[in-house]
Amino acid sequence: MHVHNTNKITRIYNVIGTIRGSVEPDRYVILGGHRDSWVFGGIDPTTGTAVLQEIAQSFGKLMSRGWRPRRTIIFASWDAEEFGLLGSTEWAEENAKSLQERSIAYINSDSSIEGNYTLRVDCTPLLYQLVYKLTKEISSPDDGFEGKSLFESWLEKDPSSENANFPRINKLGSGSDFEAYFQRLGIASGRARYTKNRKTDKYSNYPVYHTIYETFELVEKFYDPTFKKQLSVAQLRGALVYELADSQIIPFNIQDYAKALKNYATSIYHLSKKHDQQLKDHGVSFETLKSYVGKEEIKCEREVIIKIHREYHRAQRDSLFSAVQNFSEAASDFHRRLTEVDLNNPLAVRIVNDQLMLLERAFIDPLGLPGRKFYRHIIFAPSRHNKYAGESFPGIYDAMFDIENKADPRSAWTEVRKHISAAAFTIQAAAGTLKEVV
Ligand SMILES: [Zn+2]
Repeated sequence: MHVHNTNKITRIYNVIGTIRGSVEPDRYVILGGHRDSWVFGGIDPTTGTAVLQEIAQSFGKLMSRGWRPRRTIIFASWDAEEFGLLGSTEWAEENAKSLQERSIAYINSDSSIEGNYTLRVDCTPLLYQLVYKLTKEISSPDDGFEGKSLFESWLEKDPSSENANFPRINKLGSGSDFEAYFQRLGIASGRARYTKNRKTDKYSNYPVYHTIYETFELVEKFYDPTFKKQLSVAQLRGALVYELADSQIIPFNIQDYAKALKNYATSIYHLSKKHDQQLKDHGVSFETLKSYVGKEEIKCEREVIIKIHREYHRAQRDSLFSAVQNFSEAASDFHRRLTEVDLNNPLAVRIVNDQLMLLERAFIDPLGLPGRKFYRHIIFAPSRHNKYAGESFPGIYDAMFDIENKADPRSAWTEVRKHISAAAFTIQAAAGTLKEVV
């Protein structure tokens, strides 16, 4: 193979546009997508760049009619994504302090199609309900779904494996510009695009991805001749930005985060069950809350002793499930209080909105994941084995990965225990931020 590369230092350009918020100008909703491409970039990124521009134009039209969003909207056209997410990461680093203090959400606008079968969404659990609500309001662009909603065609073609009443939503991994915002700064993030049929097409990307054959003609002739799929994606991305920037109460659902944490804790527990004997030998436990509460009741009669035992057991044995349970209770309580907030009291509204905004930030560990100091989200990280895919509880998962072949099992299992503690501590601390401010 002959490779002809030029090695030179060159300048890159991010283009940033802002609509100043009318009520809360110090709160940001960011819509960002890259503009550079490997060759012609017919799909990646042009189908996303076009969407970014259309959304900016739509907001411009609203403004010409006198509309102003409640919060500030930032439009970002990133450069040098293909060289390693450079433009978006540089801007995140340059503005890290104010972004951490003021950002509500980051919505990504990379390629809006990678197939023509159905919708694909990867996002924080905070956005699930908003995505369901908005897709019910957008028409389906699919043949055979005339008059039906995007939600309906999406649900029929790709139902969630956990609950058949909802379409699948994936965990955020990486491979695009949301990385620094979500995985490093802990800003609630999401992405949406049209995708292939995952049941019949197992390849992680489309066949001509990043090649010279990614042209406009390819999109026009094969992927989206009516451009309706790109329109649906534009409507969803634009509506997400609109709702996040203009709703009085930030449209996040914290109870979905609690449910997701329960699922992730249960699946890492099942994974650990493959090593049942080692778990016992090395004093590692994921036992569920239910199983040990039963034991306590047999052992203890007086309530005060039950309480002491519960605290002890929670700390020693079941820290992860206990923290998830506490988070879940704090989330339900927060959700109830949210329905009672006095909407005419701007400070009361701001207090709950700040709690909502900062929840994702609470999952950030400033020390980062082992060997990956810029991935600092304790609940999600790009998988070590496929950067495009997301992994839950990455610290625990990576510590257990291939553990049967580790030279020193004692220290390997100590590492697992350490990561269970880090996850439990972080979730418990996040639950603390949801408590009523007194
Ligand atoms: Zn791209």
